[in-house]
Amino acid sequence: MNVLIVGSGGREHTIAWKLLQSPRVEKVYCAPGNGGTAQIAQNAPIDVHDFAALAQFVKDEGIDLTVVGPEDPLLGGIVDFFNERNLPIFGPNSQAAKIEGSKSFAKSLMRRYNIPTAAYESFLDYESAIAYVREQGAPIVVKADGLAAGKGVVVAETLEEAEEALRQIMQENVFGQAGARVVIEECMRGEELSLLSFVDGETVKPMVTSQDHKRIYNDDQGPNTGGMGTYAPVPQMSDELVAKIVETIVEPMAVGMAKDGIPFKGILYTGLMITEAGPKVVEFNARFGDPETQVILPLLETDLLEIFLATVSGELASVDVKWKKESAVCVVMAAPGYPGNYPKGAVISGLEQIAPPVTVFHAGTKETEAGVATNGGRVLGVTSTGENLAKARESAYAAVQSISFEGAHYRTDIADRAMRFEK
Ligand code: ATP
Repeated sequence: MNVLIVGSGGREHTIAWKLLQSPRVEKVYCAPGNGGTAQIAQNAPIDVHDFAALAQFVKDEGIDLTVVGPEDPLLGGIVDFFNERNLPIFGPNSQAAKIEGSKSFAKSLMRRYNIPTAAYESFLDYESAIAYVREQGAPIVVKADGLAAGKGVVVAETLEEAEEALRQIMQENVFGQAGARVVIEECMRGEELSLLSFVDGETVKPMVTSQDHKRIYNDDQGPNTGGMGTYAPVPQMSDELVAKIVETIVEPMAVGMAKDGIPFKGILYTGLMITEAGPKVVEFNARFGDPETQVILPLLETDLLEIFLATVSGELASVDVKWKKESAVCVVMAAPGYPGNYPKGAVISGLEQIAPPVTVFHAGTKETEAGVATNGGRVLGVTSTGENLAKARESAYAAVQSISFEGAHYRTDIADRAMRFEK
């Protein structure tokens, strides 16, 4: 089978890498792809929003399945577009993807299906929003309803901070239409982690648990990023806890959406806070996380193509999804200045000698005549598996030491806290 992967990040490189391990996969294409996917697949310079050009490419190349990486094309209706043309595609349609695109939509479904999450109200009107935060008091969380690249959420420790956030979102419109509505939530405390699941409508197959490191510096200091490193599985999370999350959160969400006529097919990403009162939902995403994918897929034993096809056809219940009894750690190497402005075009050295169990998933790279060069803020996801977290971490960091590009920076504490829980 020939497969097209839509997207250009580390997530898409990882999906391509995993699919190529399937005996049934002949050729993988990436649109537009990056310097890493160019080495293992064929890149096609098509924008992820150009659905007509993507569909035409699929027809021309005889592609049997399209897999969508990022949220933007999902929310924009790429799955609806392909379905109307009978082109097989993996991912939720635009209606189901709204659980990521609108926080108030996601919260209203959670309320309807009795899914544990922070108490909330949503507002279109500034005065009522201000009155509500004054009544609730701080700490309190203020969120722009729509997508704001991770910047639309303020965890306000004081009333002043909350009011300032409302002013910026609702009066100064700093997020434009994404902030026309705000969601105001109870502030939850606890360990934050994620559980991704394959969902074909009603059947849920959970993946291994994982934890991202969102802040740029060690000890969770500095500004937020797209994610600076991940590990899996999360040793603090027992099998019982995972079973409870599936039973009380993921399954009721899938079943509820199917009953409501908006069945979710694809990857359901559940962001969780493990509070004193048990696991509660922070957010849902409608796709693989990046860089969670970089540690999850190397641990998958089952053929990923088989899972994708069964999800599309609604036969996921018949697939036995198996995971390796190992751990994985991914350390993100970023360009100087990231998450602010950063230069591009620095040549990367040391990639040739990387060997298993380490794999380097490219994020912001491109092929140039001088070799692979930087082309984004998050440049590489240096990933290793190992018999436990400590081993995986050690080989991932040894590989990081052997790779260089001008101004490269990375966190040196990925998975540190988790190792204390490892038996
Ligand atoms: P955007 O839509 O702007 O891209 P996002 O989808 O990343 O943002 P959330 O995941 O909802 O937004 O929130 C971002 C972060 O804020 C979370 O990862 C969590 O650390 C914190 N957060 C969100 N909601 C709460 C809450 N109710 N209580 C405590 N912390 C929260």
